[in-house]
Amino acid sequence: MTTTVTLTGTGVPFPSADRAGPGVLVSHEDVHLQIDAGRSTLMRLAQTGINPHQLSALLLTHLHSDHVSDVADLAHTRWVQDHLHGTGPLPVVAADGHAPAFVQRVLAANAYDVEVRMRHVQDGPPQVTGHWFQLPDVPAEVWRSPCGRVAVEAVRVRHEPVEQAVGYRITTPDGVIVVSGDTRVCDEIAALSAGADIVVHEACRSTALAEFARNTPFETIFSYHADTVALGEMAKHVGVPHLVLTHLIPEPTTPDQVAAYEADVRRGGFAGRISVGHDLMTLTLPPETIPGDQQ
Ligand SMILES: [Zn+2]
Ligand SMILES: [Zn+2]
Repeated sequence: MTTTVTLTGTGVPFPSADRAGPGVLVSHEDVHLQIDAGRSTLMRLAQTGINPHQLSALLLTHLHSDHVSDVADLAHTRWVQDHLHGTGPLPVVAADGHAPAFVQRVLAANAYDVEVRMRHVQDGPPQVTGHWFQLPDVPAEVWRSPCGRVAVEAVRVRHEPVEQAVGYRITTPDGVIVVSGDTRVCDEIAALSAGADIVVHEACRSTALAEFARNTPFETIFSYHADTVALGEMAKHVGVPHLVLTHLIPEPTTPDQVAAYEADVRRGGFAGRISVGHDLMTLTLPPETIPGDQQ
């Protein structure tokens, strides 16, 4: 038995040829959870061999467009293929508030396509099964797989002015994975990360961006994204074994720029394992044993 964690996208709103929009796939046996669905998520899932009909649930951290722009493709393609697979509506897990209306509007945008497909193939219109939960101030269970082996907890994070933003903690028989979503470094994510095996956290190199952002509207991003040095301090304090950086602001395109992310986190005092994420990076729980490193 293993659990795999695959980064389906490590990018941000600015487009990149190498980085899809934010997303993480957590798989344990036949339970497949997709957290967020940024641009090109469907393509990255196809690269991992997962089709939309195989998803057990789609978990949304918040409704910034970079995290949800591929919800349309996931939900609609699952519907288009449903006569082949019969897995039914896509379960969507999100904080109550704006999410139910957002998802309905996404589905409604394809009304003409739905109408013409229903004339010759589809029996009914596309639907999702909404699992809407109240924004939890402390980690609370919000979903569990029908088999009972995979549980999802959520907690409110700090991404103001987005109020309904959460991080998720996924527990499988193999371990615990935390996905921060978008947030500045905060006590809520520290609490969610306690005892986790892998923490996938957004990362913003404030020092690299300070000059670019000075006296522009971009200066505000430092107030709602996770500074890499502060993230290292938090990961040290919590005792995170493996920190995985994603949603990289700014996009690192050279080995030196990748190394600068790690150096920032080390400056915060973190001595554990660090992975600077790239698309389709895959981690395994329990961790694979490295030959000759068995102490
Ligand atoms: Zn955001
Ligand atoms: Zn984002």
